[in-house]
Amino acid sequence: MRPFRYERADDVAGAVALLARAPQGAFLGGGTNLVDLMRLDVARPDVLVDVRRLTSDQVEELPDGGVRIGAAVPNSDLAANTMIRTRYPMLSAALLAGASGQLRNLATSGGNLLQRTRCVYFQNVTTACNKRQPGSGCSAIEGHHRDLAILGSSPACVATHPSDMAVAMVALDAVVQTHGPNGERSIPLAQLHRLPGQEPEHDTVLEHGELITAIDLPPMPPNVRSRYRKVRDRASYAFALVSVAAVLDISEGMIRDVRIALGGVAHKPWRATVAERSLIGGPASGERFRHAAEEELADAQPLPGNAFKVPLARNTIVRTLLDLAGSSLVPPGTAGPGPANPGATRPEATNPEAAHQETAGPGAADPEGVHPEAANPEAARPAPDPAVMDPEMDPGADPEGPRG
Ligand SMILES: Cc1cc2nc3c(=O)[nH]c(=O)nc-3n(C[C@H](O)[C@H](O)[C@H](O)COP(=O)(O)OP(=O)(O)OC[C@H]3O[C@@H](n4cnc5c(N)ncnc54)[C@H](O)[C@@H]3O)c2cc1C
Ligand code: SF4
Repeated sequence: MRPFRYERADDVAGAVALLARAPQGAFLGGGTNLVDLMRLDVARPDVLVDVRRLTSDQVEELPDGGVRIGAAVPNSDLAANTMIRTRYPMLSAALLAGASGQLRNLATSGGNLLQRTRCVYFQNVTTACNKRQPGSGCSAIEGHHRDLAILGSSPACVATHPSDMAVAMVALDAVVQTHGPNGERSIPLAQLHRLPGQEPEHDTVLEHGELITAIDLPPMPPNVRSRYRKVRDRASYAFALVSVAAVLDISEGMIRDVRIALGGVAHKPWRATVAERSLIGGPASGERFRHAAEEELADAQPLPGNAFKVPLARNTIVRTLLDLAGSSLVPPGTAGPGPANPGATRPEATNPEAAHQETAGPGAADPEGVHPEAANPEAARPAPDPAVMDPEMDPGADPEGPRG
């Protein structure tokens, strides 16, 4: 590990000023990602500015009924927070689907959003990687890319963003508050992370020395249901092959609102706006869910080793929406895959329903090895039953996991 200077500031402005004077410096949150990358010689900051005591470690209610999450709130505290568990159970489930209890105790909300890709070449300084060393090439395209992106990638980089928390927050329309060299700003989380384009070395739109101070969640409308479903190789301690965070509001069989975000498929948490537009205002049916998922994935450009993610993502979207719709589904054959009703609205209010996390075993990697109901969503639901890809899917895999 290379030598570095450890600094603390008295306040946020002081920390920002310290990094402004250190072009190679970095903020230090829990260190669970940054310090690992320093040990691997991937990250080489000469100054670390510890920000854990500078930003809030509390979750506070906002006047509009939303919540403000301080950037220093540990992931474990956030998952256990009563307001989060009752109002945004999907977020709690997503957090508990990530890493381990010990890691979550250290990891901060700000650091979680800015964790780096787990692409194996990014973490190996002996290989070519445009993200680590711009212009050196991308080893993953011809190499190991099973875990990498199918949407929004570029010839320069096919990495994925690894955070579970960020996927749930994108579906919740979170807004990131920052304080940087040019002052304070609010950034919708869906716009924080970048697609790789020709500059995969930039993960986000943040400037050097711009500190995340908090993350705001808008209030949840009443009577909506939400869920986070994570499909991975092992039941714990594994990053998502595909994950889906979804919020669904159905009234009299019609979809009043739906918000869907995907993890494990792109350089950023992927907001499935095409599927959302296709669904809002129409009836809730498995046929329409599948049609919307296929529309969202129409532009997917998988590589040979991760083509399985396209049907996996489709099936996981469908299954998640079927779970959420439950008994509100219209009977098979009564709703076509038609377009959305343009008059649909996104109503306001509070108090969602249950959400939970699920994991999948080895079957997840088999693109077509699906259950009949996964191939034909109309044949599934409503019923508590196995997940899309794997009959052994265990919704209670994490004993700490909230079950909404
Ligand atoms: C074995 C293992 C398994 C894991 N599994 C999962 C998983 O399944 N799902 C998942 O989502 N995550 C997983 N993680 C990742 C873990 O969630 C992250 O390491 C953690 O959330 C990072 O938070 P941190 O506070 O430790 O960040 P740090 O490591 O301190 O920082 C990460 C980055 O954020 C920057 N930073 C930190 N705080 C701020 C701030 N306030 N403002 C601006 N920049 C800041 C740092 O400079 C650095 O670039 C895993 C990690 C490990 C080691
Ligand atoms: S996918 Fe991105 S992070 Fe991975 S080797 Fe290619 S450039 Fe590097």
